[in-house]
Amino acid sequence: MKKNTRVFHISDKTYEDQVREAASILRAGGTVAFPTETVYGLGADALNEQAVMQIFEAKGRPADNPLIVHVDSKESCLKLVRAIPDKASILMEIFWPGPLTLIMERKEIVPDVTTGGLETVAVRIPENKIALELIKYAGIPIAAPSANLSGRPSPTTAEHVLSDLSGRIDALIDGGGVSIGVESTVIDMTSEIPAILRPGKISKEELETYIGEVQVAYDDKVHPESETVRSPGMKYTHYSPKSGVILVEGEHDNVVSRIKELIDDFSLRNAKTGLLLTEESKSEFPVHLSYSIGEKDKPEQAAKHLFFGFRYLDERNIDVIIVDGSFKPDGIGMAVFNRVRKAADMIIKV
Ligand code: AMP
Ligand code: MG
Repeated sequence: MKKNTRVFHISDKTYEDQVREAASILRAGGTVAFPTETVYGLGADALNEQAVMQIFEAKGRPADNPLIVHVDSKESCLKLVRAIPDKASILMEIFWPGPLTLIMERKEIVPDVTTGGLETVAVRIPENKIALELIKYAGIPIAAPSANLSGRPSPTTAEHVLSDLSGRIDALIDGGGVSIGVESTVIDMTSEIPAILRPGKISKEELETYIGEVQVAYDDKVHPESETVRSPGMKYTHYSPKSGVILVEGEHDNVVSRIKELIDDFSLRNAKTGLLLTEESKSEFPVHLSYSIGEKDKPEQAAKHLFFGFRYLDERNIDVIIVDGSFKPDGIGMAVFNRVRKAADMIIKV
């Protein structure tokens, strides 16, 4: 199924017409990629089975990996879930629109294909003007996973979406780069103590300020397919470049020396390396192919640049990406480490 992917470039003059046109494609059961504040999403009518199936087909996503449904109001969310638990209601007030996905019990109207057959549904309101208008004009809830081929790094620019999905989706709205760069925090609100299933910009500590104790139900491993896990996404390789990935974690000086050793080892074996560095380590590797993910004490920069960096190096035909893991694991830094560890073939602690 080869599609002719239409690209809407957003400029102020044509803004509204373009988004309306994209919304009509969604209403007709088509697939449209669009920017959110986290990463680009690939949207389809969440209540239309045929439409949602096209998302799975375009991405090559395993059928049991459920999608996040994007809405533009709490009222629209109420149409999808049986009830909104009190704590979920508090989180909605504080964090929506924003990078927080809440899992609640679904109503029958949400089809199995959207929830991967689960009795729960994941919902959020994104904080991005284009995304919100698109949902509003479409007038339907929009199921939207990240707009990448399954297993590849999530897209943070329109170019990334096209490089994975051109010819596989009906349209793309090019709204420039995203502001956060890693996917939303996912929290399961159906258990007595709510549980984080995926880390994101909104941290455990932040959530606990408003609703008390929160469990951590994720880890940084890829689980075997035979295992029963709380979130099907935990079983699948994610975020991975084509090249091998080695993560070197530790203090700046130790990380730099170990990366130098690794480069020497690989060059003896004629393997080409590319580096994802921090601003602080950049000057140590002046001639080596590298990409900076930002200052080590500002993990929000690492969040914004990580997937871009993976793709940038991947395009340069290297064998191994070595990641400088000396950036702070605080707040969103935890989410960045989670993505890199899952992508890594080897983790070295120094
Ligand atoms: P993506 O849409 O690519 O950002 O991935 C969505 C993530 O949310 C995946 O890790 C899913 O497994 C997880 N998820 C979505 N819906 C549910 C649900 N009902 N229960 C548990 N995890 C879910
Ligand atoms: Mg994804």
